[in-house]
Amino acid sequence: MTVNELIKKVFFIEILQGLALTLKHLFKPAVTIQYPAERKEPFAGSRGLHALVRDSGTGREKCVGCGLCAAMCPSQCIHIYTSEGDDHKKVVDRYEIEVLRCVYCAFCVEACPYGAIVLTDHFEYSGYSREEFYYTKERLLENWDKYMAGNKGKEYLERFWRPRAVDFATPAPAKKEERAKQ
Ligand code: SF4
Ligand code: SF4
Repeated sequence: MTVNELIKKVFFIEILQGLALTLKHLFKPAVTIQYPAERKEPFAGSRGLHALVRDSGTGREKCVGCGLCAAMCPSQCIHIYTSEGDDHKKVVDRYEIEVLRCVYCAFCVEACPYGAIVLTDHFEYSGYSREEFYYTKERLLENWDKYMAGNKGKEYLERFWRPRAVDFATPAPAKKEERAKQ
C-alpha cells in the first residue's frame, strides 16, 4: 500500500469526497418529474410508434408495396400483402407491423424510397393484449393523422428522412462534348 492510499484510508478521504458531492447536489433543483402529471416533450425525431404516410393528394397511403422495408427489417415484423389493381398497378391490400417485435432501428424508414413509413415521436402506448400491438394499414394511417398532423410529417421527413429517391435520382445523360473529354 502506498502512502497516498494509506492517508486516504485513515482520513476517510473518499467518503468525505462522496459526501461533499451529495451536499453539493442537495440544494439544486430536482431533475426528476412527477410523471404522468408532468411530462417532457419528446426530442424531435425520436423513434416511437410507426405510421404510414398518407398522400395528401389521394388521401391514400404513399406506400407502393415494394417490400423493401420488410426485407430490411431485422425483426421481420413487417408483413405486406399486395395484389394487381385494375390498371395493372400494385395495390397494397394489407400492411401490418407487429410492434412488440420492433427494435426501433428505423431501417424500414431508411430503406423506403418513397418516404412512405415513419416512426412518430409518440412513445406512450400500452395495451392489455398482443393484438393491440398488431398495427394494420388503417391503424398506421390513423397514426399519421394523429401524430404527424399539419406540417409536422412533412417537416419530419425533410429534416430527418429525406426520401432516398431524391438522392438517387437518375442523373441526366452527359452531353457529347463532356463524354469526349472523359
Ligand atoms: S424500426 Fe426496425 S425493427 Fe422496427 S419495423 Fe422498422 S425495420 Fe423493423
Ligand atoms: S419500402 Fe416504402 S413503399 Fe416499399 S413497401 Fe415499405 S413502406 Fe411501402
